[in-house]
Amino acid sequence: MSKHMLVMELCCPQCDALLTEGTKLPLDAYLRDPQREGEMRLSAIFGDYTMESDLEVKPGDTVEFRCPKCEAPLTIALTCKLCGAPMASLNMRVGGYLEFCCRAGCKGHALGGVGDIDQMMRMMNKMFETPYD
Ligand SMILES: [Zn+2]
Ligand SMILES: [Zn+2]
Repeated sequence: MSKHMLVMELCCPQCDALLTEGTKLPLDAYLRDPQREGEMRLSAIFGDYTMESDLEVKPGDTVEFRCPKCEAPLTIALTCKLCGAPMASLNMRVGGYLEFCCRAGCKGHALGGVGDIDQMMRMMNKMFETPYD
């Protein structure tokens, strides 16, 4: 088990498919203005808010995420504490859920980036106690 980076194993809240692939989290992405659709790969590493996309996403663009397996929208009725953009939510395989900001370039975009510390520590302990595969 690797201790130098913490990879989040995330599942779709609708179909329960495991969406993390290696250290990436590929999601279907939809931009409103101008309308574009494509794939966006978020980093599945804890606290890393980098992403790759075949869409031309500029920092500041807000993206709607969908599950690449069942196409369920992942956006929830919460807004980012940092920038006010909508948030998306995924389930963690170890239990619980994770919310992240839908605005590219926002630090809240990081998986776990704006979570409360106590909750994150509990989650990390849980992850390290859970043997992989
Ligand atoms: Zn799904
Ligand atoms: Zn934000």
